[in-house]
Amino acid sequence: MVNRSRRPRRARLLAIPLAAIGLVLGMTHPALADNPTSTVVDSTRGGGMSVGLTFDDGPNPPDTLRLLGVLREHHVKAVFCLWGDHVRQHPEVVRRIVADGHTLCNHGMHHDDMAAWPAQKIRADLLETSAAIRAAVPGAHIPYFRAPYGSWGQTPTVAADLGMQALGWRLAVGDWDPPGTAELIRRLREGITPGAVVLLHDGGGDRSQTVDAVAAVIPALRSEGWHLSLPARRG
Ligand SMILES: [Zn+2]
Repeated sequence: MVNRSRRPRRARLLAIPLAAIGLVLGMTHPALADNPTSTVVDSTRGGGMSVGLTFDDGPNPPDTLRLLGVLREHHVKAVFCLWGDHVRQHPEVVRRIVADGHTLCNHGMHHDDMAAWPAQKIRADLLETSAAIRAAVPGAHIPYFRAPYGSWGQTPTVAADLGMQALGWRLAVGDWDPPGTAELIRRLREGITPGAVVLLHDGGGDRSQTVDAVAAVIPALRSEGWHLSLPARRG
């Protein structure tokens, strides 16, 4: 907390030379196509018959831990959009997520609606969230940011400035208000389109139906020729 007021200034000083290097290298170096942009990405990196699963609002034992078991069993990698307060409560679960090879996403410290926030306030929140994640997992790579409620406001630009790509979704199935596992499965099966990033929740309440639905849907999708992928870095 003590260092918070100093961090943005240091980052700003670095931003100009880094941007200049990026401009020069960007013309010849295809790897820089991975640099985050202020575009909100909602598709997988592979496209085609692929789906990207993303899970918001955790970590939330026991649902997150059970979900990790399901993903491990099916060899699926996903994105976890972490809620900072929950990271502080359950840092050991964040370590499990990373140990299993999943990708991290910053979902804000307190799940605030940031639509009307000025850039400076957004920046402080995102930095605090990333610091909480890295207190749990030193040096953790956090390539994505997702605005709570999808209330983007100025957040995609601030996130890009901090090295994180804004991550949206193409399909939400309303699992925050659990409608029953069978209904969740139906919504997923009917709603998934080629290259879609799918929004699901492992935290913010009892998410056992989501975990059960995912356990059923992954093998069903695979048997139809779909494969599980990760989101693109830019749209
Ligand atoms: Zn959320």
